[in-house]
Parts: sequence; C-alpha cells; structure tokens
Amino acid sequence: KCHNELVRLKGNIRVLCRVRPICQEEAEGDCKNMVTFDPDDDAVLCLSNKGKLMTFELDKVFPPQATQEEVFQEVQSLVTSCIDGYNVCIFAYGQTGSGKTYTMEGVAEDPGINQRALRLLFSEVSEKKPDWDYNITVSMVEIYNEMLRNLLGDTPSEKLDIKMCPDGSGQLYVPGLTEFSVECVEDINKVFELGHMNRATACTNLNEHSSRSHALLIITVAGFNSSTGHRTSGKLNLVDLAGSERIAKSGAEGSRLREAQCINKSLSALGDVINALRSRHSHVPFRNSRLTYLLQDSLSGDNKTLMVVQVSPLDSNVSESVCSLKFAQRVR
Ligand code: ADP
Ligand code: MG
Repeated sequence: KCHNELVRLKGNIRVLCRVRPICQEEAEGDCKNMVTFDPDDDAVLCLSNKGKLMTFELDKVFPPQATQEEVFQEVQSLVTSCIDGYNVCIFAYGQTGSGKTYTMEGVAEDPGINQRALRLLFSEVSEKKPDWDYNITVSMVEIYNEMLRNLLGDTPSEKLDIKMCPDGSGQLYVPGLTEFSVECVEDINKVFELGHMNRATACTNLNEHSSRSHALLIITVAGFNSSTGHRTSGKLNLVDLAGSERIAKSGAEGSRLREAQCINKSLSALGDVINALRSRHSHVPFRNSRLTYLLQDSLSGDNKTLMVVQVSPLDSNVSESVCSLKFAQRVR
C-alpha cells in the first residue's frame, strides 16, 4: 500500500517530446526550422505561424540529434518493471511524418523501442533470480475504424472483440487473439515480419493505411517461482498511434471522413482518459474508444504510462506541431 502511494505521488504518467531531424531533401528546399529547446528546463519552444513564441514544458525533451539508444535509456526502467508485474503503456503520438514509427519500430540498422524492449527483457529474465521461470509472449493488433485486427493470426481480416473476464476480476481479454511465445532475437524478427505482412496485405497503400490506424505490440511477461508457487504477470503495450493531423472536414467524404472521425474519436478518448487518471477523477471514460477500452487494465491502477509526443520542426508543419504540444501539455 505504502509503495503504491509512493508510485502515485511520483506520478505514473510521463510525457516526453522528441523532435525529428530535418532530412537532407528538406534542408535543400527552402524550409525553416521553427522549434528550439531549453534543455535545462525540459521545454520546447515553438514559433507559431503568427510569430508568437510558445513554450511547452515536458518531463523530458529529445532534440533531433538524440539517438535511439538515448530515447530507450529513458524508457528502460518502465520496460523492466513488467518483470515485477506492472502493466505499462508507451505511446508515440504526432502527425504523420513526425517520427512515430522511427521511435517505436526504428530502422533495420538502428531499431527503436519495440525491438530494444524485447531484447532487454530477454537478457533480464535470463539473469533471473533462482527458482524463477519466465515466459514472454507477443501479440500484434491493429485498430482501424474502431475495429481490432489480429496481425499474427491466420485470418487477420477477422474482427476481434474485447470481453470482460467472467471471473469478476475486472480483467479484459480478447478471445481469439494470437499470442506467440518468444525466446530470442530471431523469434522477434519472424513475428515482426508476419505482423507487417498481414498489415500490408489488407490494404492497397500501406503508408496511408498505417497513418490512419493504431499499431499495438503487446508483450506479456509471466513469471513463476517453482519453489514458492508465486506468480507474476506484467504487460507492455507499445503503441504507434494513427497520425494526429486534423483532416479538413470539407475535403473528406465517405470512407475518408469515417477514418478521420475514428482517429479523432480515439485520440481524444486517449487524451480524456489520461487526463482523468492524472486528475484522479472517479470516472475514467475508458469505454469511449476501442483503444482505451483495450488498454484499460494497463492504463488504470498503479500501472505506468509514457507518451512520446513526436514533433516535426518544419515551418510547414508548425500548426500541427503546436497541436501536438498542446495535447502533450493537456495530458501532462
Ligand atoms: P510517422 O510514423 O510519424 O509517420 P516516420 O517514423 O515514418 O513518421 O518518420 C518520417 C521520416 O523521418 C522517415 O523517413 C524516418 O526514417 C525519418 N525520421 C523520423 N525520425 C527520425 C530520427 N529521429 N532520426 C532520423 N530519421 C528520422
Ligand atoms: Mg508511421
């Protein structure tokens, strides 16, 4: 009880910001950099379209030159807390092109949080305490238009439901969700490959599709002590959110409009839930979107949440950058 109180006081929701670098092509064009930092205060300064200098304070700020390793160091302790039975959510939030997928998945030669988290968990559980045995499993889920898809399943186009466990524990589960046991780096690569393939086959343009859906990598770490019979279970949810850019209402019709409404609904539901948890409201509106409903177990209680708000420094993106930073401020 005492420990739980301490966790609460220290705060179990942290909001970081990562600003992506300006790439060569952009630098050769006539773009301007609108974002700067105050590393001592962990603040981002953003020059708005109207020429106003706005300051946003966050728990930690990563400038463009920050490496994947530096970002991972900041989330390491959250990742390993799953071994002790905590549930953790790490989200990448931001407009399309702001670096969400770079932060979560990374690139082959420089992987992001997903791959690094699994590697760290493997190495931590192999140095386990005597008598403890651990099983690490992964699932991959996509949420598109408020529908859940099982990215590691044989029939990924089939819709999945979220159900309440009948045992009265208040735990949620997803019947039919595929879970793979993983033990080494080769296993992870195979799982990621399958997930990507399944995500791609259902759509004509993967880039567009991935910016309009949420991708979740769900890692569970179950521990068993053979001499005491004690069990632990922790879950790490790594979420590459749909692009937060506002879609002009006038321009969107039909399926495009529906997509925009679904993204809007789930991102604002996420903001509402985090805000309610932070201000310790008695009512937390988990049920307002599939995303928050699915993550209810992990977002509530003494669990830990980290939001990485991704920002593009370009002048052409500045109004979206301001929106993302305002979102960051609201959930912080
Ligand atoms: P999003 O997933 O938010 O749409 P991406 O992760 O695809 O954005 O990033 C857009 C582009 O910028 C990609 O080509 C990506 O490799 C590059 N990029 C993003 N962040 C970084 C970074 N920190 N360092 C180097 N390149 C980056
Ligand atoms: Mg992406």
